[in-house]
Amino acid sequence: MSAHPPLLAADELRVTFRPGGRELRAVDGVSLDVQAGETVALVGESGSGKSTVALALMGVHPLAGGRVRFDGRDVTAAEGAERKALRRRMQLILQDPYGSLDPRWSVARILEEPLVAHAVGDAASRARRVGELLAQVGLPADAAERRPHQFSGGQRQRIAIARALALEPRLLIADEPVSALDVSIQAQIVNLLLEVQRTRGTALLVITHDIALVHHVAHRVVVMYLGRVVETGPVDEVILRPRHPYTIALLKSAPRI
Ligand code: ADP
Ligand code: MG
Repeated sequence: MSAHPPLLAADELRVTFRPGGRELRAVDGVSLDVQAGETVALVGESGSGKSTVALALMGVHPLAGGRVRFDGRDVTAAEGAERKALRRRMQLILQDPYGSLDPRWSVARILEEPLVAHAVGDAASRARRVGELLAQVGLPADAAERRPHQFSGGQRQRIAIARALALEPRLLIADEPVSALDVSIQAQIVNLLLEVQRTRGTALLVITHDIALVHHVAHRVVVMYLGRVVETGPVDEVILRPRHPYTIALLKSAPRI
């Protein structure tokens, strides 16, 4: 066991929605942690609450219970400047890069925006940073002047990853980062995320329903079912010796293993 606290520690998270007046416990007591530099996969079928966990971790959904600690500090209780400082160290990548990139903005502006929002550098240093980010995600320098619609889905996901990297996060939460992409492109984007982790030591929380992807990227797996964690452990243990019937069913439905 490490003497350091985990980079991210979510404790008994609860998120409740009220569609049509009835109570839906979308996330019902979920605990998970991610160590610095580690990749954790959060898996589960559609509707099991994975995206809701991601948005709760990012502070987008209010918590009905539980708390989130980042680097040992309580993010849920943090306010003002402390909250902003903690938040910039965790960044979210979504499934559909088209919906999350403003079509009117140039790529340069998209990548610069988080730097401007956090008052990082001046115009010249931000422009340099845009160039570095494009190189880091494997896009040509002239991508800066173009707009999102001029790129393919895979390239758009590279832009979204570059934006998430702008503030040098210590944790990336990637919610189904490749499931909207052509199968032929998926491996490239997965490899880009793994390269970011290897070169920057960035921790990854990868959300996916694709258990084959889990085997390829993750150190540890957290399996969700109907808003709860049903199984968690090192990737080989969970995939080779699943204990929960739901995990077994999930593995059986994965043709690529
Ligand atoms: P997953 O990402 O695993 O597919 P979600 O977290 O998106 O699952 O959804 C979990 C449950 O919460 C589903 O039943 C979904 O319909 C419901 N849900 C998600 N977001 C909302 C919302 N904003 N309002 C109402 N219900 C929601
Ligand atoms: Mg989802």
